[in-house]
Amino acid sequence: MQTYRQALAQASQFIKDHDQFLVVSHVNPDGDATGSVLAVAHLLHFLGKSYMLVNEGASPRRFSFLKGFEQIINLSETPVDQRFRYVIAVDVADQERLGEIGPLFSDDAELLNIDHHPTNTRFGQVNVIQPEAASTTEILYDLCQRHFQQAFAPDLAEALYTGLLTDTGGFRYANTTHKVLEMAADLLTYNLRPAKIAQYALETITTGHIKILKQALDTLTFAYEQQVALMSVSLEAIHQTGVDRDDIDGLVGYPSNIAGVKVGILLKEVEQGQVKVSLRSRDTVNVAEIAQVFGGGGHAKAAGFTYRGTLAEAKQALLAKLEEVLH
Ligand code: 5GP
Ligand code: MN
Repeated sequence: MQTYRQALAQASQFIKDHDQFLVVSHVNPDGDATGSVLAVAHLLHFLGKSYMLVNEGASPRRFSFLKGFEQIINLSETPVDQRFRYVIAVDVADQERLGEIGPLFSDDAELLNIDHHPTNTRFGQVNVIQPEAASTTEILYDLCQRHFQQAFAPDLAEALYTGLLTDTGGFRYANTTHKVLEMAADLLTYNLRPAKIAQYALETITTGHIKILKQALDTLTFAYEQQVALMSVSLEAIHQTGVDRDDIDGLVGYPSNIAGVKVGILLKEVEQGQVKVSLRSRDTVNVAEIAQVFGGGGHAKAAGFTYRGTLAEAKQALLAKLEEVLH
């Protein structure tokens, strides 16, 4: 088995040996996905390499303060008629999470897969998978520390810090290690403004968020002696309030943070017959294992999957599985 150091060395070689990269992350990107894509972009720019940044959909507006954010192409709006041989995927647990970007890969495409999800399927030609890392940007930090020390600059530092901040929930989750805080401290030496970053990345909520929160709270239910709390967002509620995905972001925290709740769940109807499920564990329950049963994945304390069926069916199937796990 390859060590982490060996994997980082292989990744640096992949980057040094090639050019004209496609840099991608997962569907419905978060702060780590967006920060990681932009960190790779800053690194490639420093190395004088050319690249294109593409996501299947839109990147969250709250991260638009990051330098280079507008370079991330939303493929659903802007077609790209180019094919790439060298692909760098960051924060992507499996190929399905890449979304509909397959047509951008050439037939002989080679992929560098950098990720921290324990459920990662190692789908790249080169794989740097470190489940102990709090964020994918932590791995990118290690990569730069070890092989591209000269690349460190404020823009790179800000992108790395943002992924670390968001994937640790503002340095609060169990993945907030000594190393995480050392890395954060080091990154702050690049004159970052941590209060500004936290405000944009974590704290600011939209008026749309408040609108959909009011409706979602009406759907809050409990199960199994309040060990499980569920909230749902129907298509009807989304249409009625006129909110978009950015507005719905963060709702799963409400059921999850209630005292005594072990598993918090948000069920979001994304289209007719398709429900996106978010799971959060506040205890020993491993929600990644539950998500995997339904074809999804993630981390022990934060995971998700997409369910084919109605909101009611998704809820029923999930509760049946949770009963097994909790009893
Ligand atoms: P969220 O609930 O915020 O969408 O996702 C929480 C965590 O689970 C993230 O780390 C995310 O990457 C992962 N995740 C969410 N949905 C899926 C999915 O459908 N498949 C996989 N493999 N991981 C997912
Ligand atoms: Mn991540």
